[in-house]
Amino acid sequence: MICAFVTTIRSKSIVPASKTVCTRLSIENLSDILNFLFQQYLFIHLCTHHDTMKNDRRQFLNQMSLMAGIAVLSKPMASAAAIGKRINTLCASGTNVTIYHTNDLHGNLGGLNQIKTLLEKEETAGLILDAGDFLNSSHSLQQQKQVICAMNTIGYHTAAIGDEELSLGQDHLASLVPLMRFNLVNCNYGFNTELSKHIKPYVIIHSGKFKIGITGVGHQVEGVTYRDAITSANQIAGMLKEKGKCDLVICLSHLGYWQAGDKPDNLKLAAQSEHIDMIISDHNHKLLSGPAIKLNKLKQEVIISCTAWDGLMMNRTIFGFENGKQKSNMRSKHFITGQPYGQTFADAFSSLKSIEKLRVSA
Ligand SMILES: [Zn+2]
Repeated sequence: MICAFVTTIRSKSIVPASKTVCTRLSIENLSDILNFLFQQYLFIHLCTHHDTMKNDRRQFLNQMSLMAGIAVLSKPMASAAAIGKRINTLCASGTNVTIYHTNDLHGNLGGLNQIKTLLEKEETAGLILDAGDFLNSSHSLQQQKQVICAMNTIGYHTAAIGDEELSLGQDHLASLVPLMRFNLVNCNYGFNTELSKHIKPYVIIHSGKFKIGITGVGHQVEGVTYRDAITSANQIAGMLKEKGKCDLVICLSHLGYWQAGDKPDNLKLAAQSEHIDMIISDHNHKLLSGPAIKLNKLKQEVIISCTAWDGLMMNRTIFGFENGKQKSNMRSKHFITGQPYGQTFADAFSSLKSIEKLRVSA
């Protein structure tokens, strides 16, 4: 029976304790040069104390981030008040990390608008992530820019690259990246153009005392050098946990929930992983009523979560920690962004299921 789709688990995973590095929302690319760049980091970090940041300063920080391997987040919601709420809540969160995520938005501005409305009603701020195909390659350049603008306004922090982002070529995507106030992550593609400068293999975001490592993978796409997605994701995740001391590692995976044969998918990635806590899936347009909880190589839980396409759904997942930084529980809730007032979630979900069937049979 379909009900509230709120899932809580007790986790067996032990997350190693790591030192508290900063108390403000910030993001960094971990590398061997981090210590050397720490002074620059402090400088940039101090800049984020302003809730509103002028474009020229943001531009400056973006340039700094490229030079230093460190990016800074100052993500607007719809208003300055909302920005304050988001950052303060992230910082004030002593025991929880909250993640909102979407996938396969396909440049649907109506869906993005509904996501924005839904997030504005949420009392708990959090990271906002996307698992790729947020653009629609059949749209005009102007429409694609509008989608990026809408994602900036919502305050997306990080997105994976899907085939839709790459289908018009590397140069096309490279021309759009400067408009994005969110990071693009991927660790298994090789680019032979300007685009390589814009894609990060991972980012680390500080939320209160917690460090969240985020990487991304995708399937084979024409014109892009492909490395094995599962091997690449595991290498980065291991580094993020062990060297980066991340409390949580998230893989934004555009591999799809399930693929036939040996083709990598998110079920295989979960089973063969050791350090990934959560896989935000999709590409398949698979409609799950809640997160799939799988076991990794070490018999620890890995969460696979994906929502509906076109911004019709969004998920909120909250990881709880206790005894300092030991991951202890997870709560997950799917939202149907345009759910009519008075309609139950179950009814709205079964309507989506019928659309899914039509899509599958089309
Ligand atoms: Zn796709």
